[in-house]
Amino acid sequence: MKSIEGSRQGLFIGGRRVAPLSGRYIASYDPTTAEPWYEVADAGAEDVDAAVRSAQAAFVDPAWRRMTQTDRGKLVRRLADLLLQHADDLARIETRDNGKLLREMLAQLRAMPDAYLYFAGMADKLQGDTIPVNKLDMLNLTLREPVGVVGMITPWNSPLMLLTGTLAPCLAIGNTVVIKPSEHTSASTLALAEIIMEAGFPAGVVNVVTGNGATAGEALTRHPGLAKIVFTGSTATGKRIAANAASQLVPCQMELGGKSPHVVFADVDLDRAVNGVVAGVFAAAGQTCIAGSRCFVEAGIYDRFVDSLVDRTRRIRIGHPENDDTEIGPLALSAQLEKVEGYVGSGVAEGARIAVGGHRPQQGELGRGWYYEPTVLVDARNDMGFMRDEIFGPVVGVVPFRDEAELIGLANDTRYGLAAGIWTQNIDRALRFARNVDAGTVWINTYRSAAYMSPNGGFKESGYGRRGGFEVMREFSRLKNVVVDY
Ligand code: NAD
Repeated sequence: MKSIEGSRQGLFIGGRRVAPLSGRYIASYDPTTAEPWYEVADAGAEDVDAAVRSAQAAFVDPAWRRMTQTDRGKLVRRLADLLLQHADDLARIETRDNGKLLREMLAQLRAMPDAYLYFAGMADKLQGDTIPVNKLDMLNLTLREPVGVVGMITPWNSPLMLLTGTLAPCLAIGNTVVIKPSEHTSASTLALAEIIMEAGFPAGVVNVVTGNGATAGEALTRHPGLAKIVFTGSTATGKRIAANAASQLVPCQMELGGKSPHVVFADVDLDRAVNGVVAGVFAAAGQTCIAGSRCFVEAGIYDRFVDSLVDRTRRIRIGHPENDDTEIGPLALSAQLEKVEGYVGSGVAEGARIAVGGHRPQQGELGRGWYYEPTVLVDARNDMGFMRDEIFGPVVGVVPFRDEAELIGLANDTRYGLAAGIWTQNIDRALRFARNVDAGTVWINTYRSAAYMSPNGGFKESGYGRRGGFEVMREFSRLKNVVVDY
């Protein structure tokens, strides 16, 4: 894989790198130093149009359109093999771009090819039905077919992993794709496009347009040539994209923000629950959509729980994401750091108290990067700003509750509905919570364990549509009815 440091990365259209017609480039920053480390093309509307046209041409090209399902599955399998070979290089690129821990990115990207294998196996499993009708000499069939060009817009927090749940099934189904990665983390997606060509996919099946959301992203989501849009990112951007897509009657899948409740009952093993809450909110410096950032604790153990949470949080090692012993790295963007500081400040102004954290660490190298201490806010209320909005940083608010009725009211008092977690030994109570909470995924005595075999997605303002499992194969194919009178 070619070195990215100091390079100028072009777009990927029609199977090759091209310079942007816009002539514009933007810098991508290393969050540990706040210095730029490469430049990426800032595509304009003409570039986006070229990418969509390339995907449209590939969609009807017999090299792709007439490829058998078995051969498509084999291609996706070959891609999985190559992704495993390149996993460590891709992990290093993502860590450099978004500051997430290298050991986590290595684990994530070494596991990612398994998801491609899973969907490769589905390429020849998508089938229609024969449906009886009120006439004997009539054959009434359904066919499942690819939808066309799918536009995919991704965020910066896990660029390749978040693409997998829709890209792998789209390739297995026979769709073609235009990807617009985040302007902050484009390099790994461009590298992926090259690996896709190396695997032997026809040119134009996967195209990448990089650039700002307001320009490249807007142009893609307003383009009439798309059959479907997949968006992973913030709720505010999701609403805008859904409106653009609606103007063209293009359906969307939306994976948006979260403000997930993480619940602890008095009957738990305290250390296990504290570790679960810590990992649930501080992983990736809090920059995960499923972060359990509202922690509700049964009143009887509230003080003990908070003491233990504060003690555990104080011992979290902040450091360079490439060091083996680092537990929390920097935030990916300077704007993100300011946002976190703003919410902690407003929480304190509203009456919450910082039990631990609440500063930018200044010692040594840390002072240069976009680091923020993991922070626990107590004396919090569910109606405070930092408990209502997604912060996307290492901040958790802790609130006591008296009983299940109060708990479910608090847990559901949010406009989001992505995930929820509960720690208790009482299985009846856990299942009652799972049934009553508004969340697309519920974890009982665990948190953050997601699998590509499961249907993942949100309720309420966390989005709609599901990725993972066989469901996604249906979402990205279309159903046609064929009637034969014989
Ligand atoms: P963002 O919404 O700012 O940007 C996401 C993507 O949208 C980027 O590629 C950006 O360039 C593009 N974009 C921005 N404005 C656009 C516009 N007007 N038109 C088209 N595209 C536009 O989000 P972010 O800051 O990159 O990522 C963090 C957010 O992503 C958080 O809210 C997080 O919860 C969410 N997220 C959700 C999931 C999930 O699966 N539900 C997963 C990861 C992240």
